[in-house]
Amino acid sequence: MALKLATVIKQMRSFRNPYAYESLEVLHAGIKPSPGAKSIYSQCLVNGKGDTYKNYIQFFDVKFQENAEQGLFSAKVGRKDYYYPPVTANNNRCKFYCNCPDMQFTFSYQLWEKDSFIGAYKRYKRVPGSTRPPRNPKNVPGFCKHTMSHLNQLKKMGFITGF
Ligand SMILES: [Zn+2]
Repeated sequence: MALKLATVIKQMRSFRNPYAYESLEVLHAGIKPSPGAKSIYSQCLVNGKGDTYKNYIQFFDVKFQENAEQGLFSAKVGRKDYYYPPVTANNNRCKFYCNCPDMQFTFSYQLWEKDSFIGAYKRYKRVPGSTRPPRNPKNVPGFCKHTMSHLNQLKKMGFITGF
């Protein structure tokens, strides 16, 4: 069972405050609704300090319906029209992916353990004799600044509320 966004943010705040992340340029956002899986997949590229990272977020428990209603988004899947409400941080479970080193080495294993990481995790291996502090000593599931910028973009578009 993947975690809800509100749960990830709450747990994360004992380690890092995602709201303190700098806001980065989101280059592209494409939304792919899957009514059969009751999920929405959002893809974007995020620019940070000269590097561009691939960032994906998948939301679950999306309530698709076939009747148009005010306040719902529409999607054509095959030849059918579907309608769905905005995702909310408290109700929809989610999975994350970013190919940046912070996500891969600080959070991917911790998210994967909670069924909230898309794909395979990478685990940080301490160099023998290293005096550097552990990356995520309390094993907190969380996410990188690219993910926060992606979430903020979705919030601006009205796709997600409640965080
Ligand atoms: Zn990232």
